[in-house]
Amino acid sequence: MPNMQNTKTPMPTRDPGARSRDFEEVTTGYTAEMAINEAQRCLGCKNPPCVSGCPVGISIPGFIKELKEGNAEGAYRVIARSSLFPAICGRVCPQETQCEAKCLRGIKGEPVAIGRLERYAADAHVETEKAGKAGNAPYNGKAVAVIGSGPSGLACAAELRGRGYDVTIFEALHEAGGVLTYGIPEFRLPKRIVKKEVEELAARGVKIEKNVVVGRTLTVDELFEKGFSAVFIGSGAGLPSFMGVPGESLCGVCSANEFLTRVNLMKAYEQGAATPLAPLGKTVVVGGGNVAMDAARTALRLGAESVKIVYRRSRNELPARREEVEHAEEEGVEFCLLQNPVELLGHKSEDKNDPKNGWVEKLRLIRMELGAPDERGRRRPVEVPGSEFEMSADTVIMALGTSPNPLIRRTTKGLESDRRGCLIVKEGQTATTRPGVFAGGDAVTGAATVILAMGAGKQAAKEIDEYIAEHS
Ligand code: FAD
Ligand code: SF4
Repeated sequence: MPNMQNTKTPMPTRDPGARSRDFEEVTTGYTAEMAINEAQRCLGCKNPPCVSGCPVGISIPGFIKELKEGNAEGAYRVIARSSLFPAICGRVCPQETQCEAKCLRGIKGEPVAIGRLERYAADAHVETEKAGKAGNAPYNGKAVAVIGSGPSGLACAAELRGRGYDVTIFEALHEAGGVLTYGIPEFRLPKRIVKKEVEELAARGVKIEKNVVVGRTLTVDELFEKGFSAVFIGSGAGLPSFMGVPGESLCGVCSANEFLTRVNLMKAYEQGAATPLAPLGKTVVVGGGNVAMDAARTALRLGAESVKIVYRRSRNELPARREEVEHAEEEGVEFCLLQNPVELLGHKSEDKNDPKNGWVEKLRLIRMELGAPDERGRRRPVEVPGSEFEMSADTVIMALGTSPNPLIRRTTKGLESDRRGCLIVKEGQTATTRPGVFAGGDAVTGAATVILAMGAGKQAAKEIDEYIAEHS
């Protein structure tokens, strides 16, 4: 008999007062007992709708059945057939809008906590250290270049290596992992998990060349000249957007990307760091997505005097995961909704030697109300005339979305992109407009999700395999 409890088994979570002062993981994961209890909520549907909500089609009732029987390793193996990085996806996938949104148990209560169960199985696998990753086919004499070591690049490399290719990843930064390493903070996704995936890939023979900016250090054409039979572009969407309001170039104003990269990758908070952060003081983060939540919660942990999130729509439209919004609120982040900056104002003193000159001091904001829905169905924010007011700030972090960096498309003939700068691929495929060049993840979709990037990398590997077979 299934467990008919209508709510999810709660996720153990660290006390907000303690966790908002360190970078350790906020949620601590299910125990074996909790996992079995939650697994028993699954009805094991014959035509499981949850599977159609999973971008990589994990056999969800299949792995949950193993968990019901207390077989965490068996559950891991079922998941690993479809997903390359379950410990990562179990932590950061927006399950509430994917598999869990379709779960039948969600009709009368809360859906089965599929993500928490996935994380449990993956963590149990790591703890038991049982072998289980895909093996390699013998080398087939063909080499493929992968640009970028985010989830799309890692997935593509893993899959190609499994098919016998000699794979080299070229990564612009000095650490592999893409946004998993430099964007999503440690308290949501411990870096040891990403590091382990990268190390396993290297152990399987994938070469990772760091500090190589394709388009600058070498070009896509040069990769072909070096003997690579195909190229996968998984360079993400790392170019931050700004509002275009006066004052955005003041000191103390930066993009969330820059802020998180400097903290996560370059340890800017440590004394003696090459690019140290100025004391954050009163911090305002503009935006309402996961990136805004991560920047706000990171600022809190770095000792900001106060942290406010300014978002132009209402709470219902916040694009961030609900759990992240709740965690941010519990930790002390203040939400200033239906407000939008119109100008950033800097300190101006008559004393030319005043060190605060040129630094942001406040924002001028305008109140907003919600109008008619836009083309995506979200109600459009409309300014309320005459409602402007000011808010003090020592640091302003812009988390307004990102687009793909133009470097690769500008230096590669025949590579076409759309007006957002996203690479154009054949419908439902990863082949770009340049023969032998494939692309996936945020470089194609614009800022999206880890699981979609991973799925695209896997799909590209299959297409690359077919392309090379056809052209050799
Ligand atoms: P990326 O992860 O961006 O990796 C691209 C890699 O390519 C980077 O390492 C970059 O340095 C490298 N690169 C770029 N240009 C070049 C070049 N010219 N030469 C060589 N290397 C290059 N998604 C979720 O599903 N859940 C979340 O909770 C979530 N939170 C997020 C929080 C933050 C702060 C951010 C920024 C994103 C978040 N996302 C989340 C989105 C998710 O991380 C991305 O959709 C995903 O990482 C995209 O993967 P990718 O492989 O396409 O690119
Ligand atoms: Fe289990 Fe929900 Fe999927 Fe049905 S829809 S198999 S109850 S997780």
